[in-house]
Amino acid sequence: MPDIDLAARTRGALWGTACGDAFGMPNSFLKELPWLTEMKPGPENSPYHAGYAAGRITDDTEQAMALTEALLEGFSAESVARHLFDWFVSVGGKDSLAVGPSTMRAMLAFEAGTPLSELGKTGVTNGSAMRISPIGVFAALSGAGTAGFLDLVETACRPTHHTSPAISGSAAVAAAVKAAMEGAAWDDVVAASVEAAELGTERGNWIYCPDIGAKIEWACGLVADLDSEEAVADTVSRLVGTGEPCTESVPAALAFSHWAKGNPEIAIRIAANSRGDTDTTAAMAGAICGAYSGEDAIPAEWREIVGRTNDLDVEAWAKKLETAAG
Ligand SMILES: [Mg+2]
Repeated sequence: MPDIDLAARTRGALWGTACGDAFGMPNSFLKELPWLTEMKPGPENSPYHAGYAAGRITDDTEQAMALTEALLEGFSAESVARHLFDWFVSVGGKDSLAVGPSTMRAMLAFEAGTPLSELGKTGVTNGSAMRISPIGVFAALSGAGTAGFLDLVETACRPTHHTSPAISGSAAVAAAVKAAMEGAAWDDVVAASVEAAELGTERGNWIYCPDIGAKIEWACGLVADLDSEEAVADTVSRLVGTGEPCTESVPAALAFSHWAKGNPEIAIRIAANSRGDTDTTAAMAGAICGAYSGEDAIPAEWREIVGRTNDLDVEAWAKKLETAAG
C-alpha cells in the first residue's frame, strides 16, 4: 500500500467524482459510442449533454457539492432537501434535462409542499449513489461507526431515494470510499462495500430488487480474468448492466474499480466507455479509486480541464468536508 495522507485521499475522492463525471459525460446513454481517451465535449446526439464543453461536470458532482453544503449545516434530511432543491432550481427545474427521474419526482413534490417523509419513497435509480462520495469522506474524517455511517447515508438519500435499493447502493459506494480513505487494502474496500450494501437493505422503504452486495461480488469475479479494458467495459455493460437502476450501476462501478485495482485513471476510462449511465458509473468508480490512490493518481490534465471548465476548487471543497467533520 502506498503511503497516502488523508488530505490527498479526500481530494482524490472529490477529483475522482468530478473527473469521472466529466470524462463519462459525452458517452452517456449513446447507442453507439466512441472509445474515449480524453475529455471530450457532449456530442450533438447526446440525449442529456449536447453542447456541453469538454470537462464539464453534471448532476453527479453538483449534487455531491450540495450534500457538502448540507454537511456544513449540521446534517439533516431537511438541509439535504433544501440544498438539492436550490440545485434543482439552478439547473432549470422541471424543464431541465439535467435532473434524473427520481430526483425530478421528489423535487416537484417538495416544491408542492409534500412532507419530507413522503418524498423519496419510490426512488430506486442511482441519483443518491452518484452524489454520495462526500458522505464516505466525511464518515472517514469524523470516525463514524457502522450505525452512524448508515444514518448519514440514509439521511443523504431520504429526500429523493428513501428506498432499500437506493440506500443499499449508496451505502455500498460510500463504504468503499470510507474504507479507501481509512487505508484499507483493495480487497477490504470491496468487502466493506458488500457488507454495507447488505446493511443498507434494512433502511428506507423496502422495495424488491436484486441483491446489490451479491451482485458486487459476482461482478468483481466476472471481470477478474478479463484481459483488456474493452472486454471489461463490454462484459459489464451486457451482463451486470450500466443503466440508471442502482442495482446495475453500483455493482458495475465496483467491478470497474476492482479490475483497475483501485487505479482511478483506468477505472474512469473503462466506465466512461461502457454503456448507459457512463458519467455516473465513472463518477462512482472515480470517487472510490480516487480515495484509494489519492489525487496524484488522477491525471493532472484531467484535473486541470475540469477545474478550469467548471471553476471548481477541489481544495476548498475538501476543506469544507474537513471543517464539517471537525
Ligand atoms: Mg450525471
